[in-house]
Amino acid sequence: MKRPFLRRIFVDASVVHSSWTEEILARVPGIPVDVLPPGQKPKIPLGPWPRVLAWGKETLFLTRFLGRFFRPCPGTKAYTCCGYRIFHIGQGCPLDCSYCILQAYFNEPWLSVFINLWDQGLEELTVAWEELRPGQVLRIGTGEFTDSAALDPLTDLNRRLVVFFAQQDQSVLELKTKTTNIATLEGLDHRRRTIVAWSVNTPRIVATEEHRAPGLEERLAAASKVVSWGYPVAFHFDPIIYYPGAEEEYEAVARRLLETVSPSNIVWISLGSLRYMPVLKDIALSRFPYTKIFSEEFVVGLDGKRRYFRDLRVSLYRRLYRVIKEIAPNLCVYLCMESPEVWQEAFGYTPQSQGGLPKLLDKAAVKVCKLHV
Ligand code: SF4
Repeated sequence: MKRPFLRRIFVDASVVHSSWTEEILARVPGIPVDVLPPGQKPKIPLGPWPRVLAWGKETLFLTRFLGRFFRPCPGTKAYTCCGYRIFHIGQGCPLDCSYCILQAYFNEPWLSVFINLWDQGLEELTVAWEELRPGQVLRIGTGEFTDSAALDPLTDLNRRLVVFFAQQDQSVLELKTKTTNIATLEGLDHRRRTIVAWSVNTPRIVATEEHRAPGLEERLAAASKVVSWGYPVAFHFDPIIYYPGAEEEYEAVARRLLETVSPSNIVWISLGSLRYMPVLKDIALSRFPYTKIFSEEFVVGLDGKRRYFRDLRVSLYRRLYRVIKEIAPNLCVYLCMESPEVWQEAFGYTPQSQGGLPKLLDKAAVKVCKLHV
């Protein structure tokens, strides 16, 4: 388990006596800790935003979250949404991908861990479970505003969430990561209610754009390990980044993945191409001047984000879809934030024709995670 490198820790006084705070602080002795008055946030150092972001990745803030922990994923109405829910464990990430949307998303650059998750957050989940109708499924992820496992060596959170989710039969927890922080998942009675998911990319993109993240082979080895512990897994080809030769290299990744992990244990594979808000480009280029990810041509999508031209997106998706389906015809493959027209062109059908994307994914979760709904 690789611990993130930290230089400074801030703690909101209202959580300083929590046993989870004490536990986290005990794992990082010797790092200066400042206790802030309740509600006060760390002072952002003066300087250009790229430098502030770098500071934030080495600064931890243990605090209280005042909003809702459990909520719908902020999909865009313009694209086919998958009906995912978020369990908001924290925000910020110690890894450093050049394309990371979080660089432009928050004005709070530090790594936040929400200490009141244990009372308020789990309470919200319990209420949601109690309100479920027969047949209803919830797909819940913690990796929307952070990497689900990057801070786990400090927080030891995932082990406890896995056990918590094992109590029920109608929802799955998806831990989405690029790390290999899986050691604490061994030996748990998870009842297949947790899906451990990896974002994957070509070795070239991993090496040039996914700074501080383990390589593709290490991620696949970790996936194979959790499968040997009985967990279902998932993979996300996201963002798919175009460069000359990309199509062949993404195909090779798909083949390697399906040779490493048995398709019967894979709940779903998603495909999504690079998309970004205009402001991200300036931030990313100032932090990673050698990145080539913005050198293609982009169009403005219905959500205001830049994305590749439709023909290019379709061609990237179609090739990956074909190779995955050739090896694993029954595997659930879906597109992230794309229109029904792109689905039709890339996959030959629209999710609407199959009852909608949420239904397709619920079905996959029920089948592979063996839910009782
Ligand atoms: S792992 Fe995910 S959250 Fe972390 S820097 Fe990369 S893209 Fe951002």
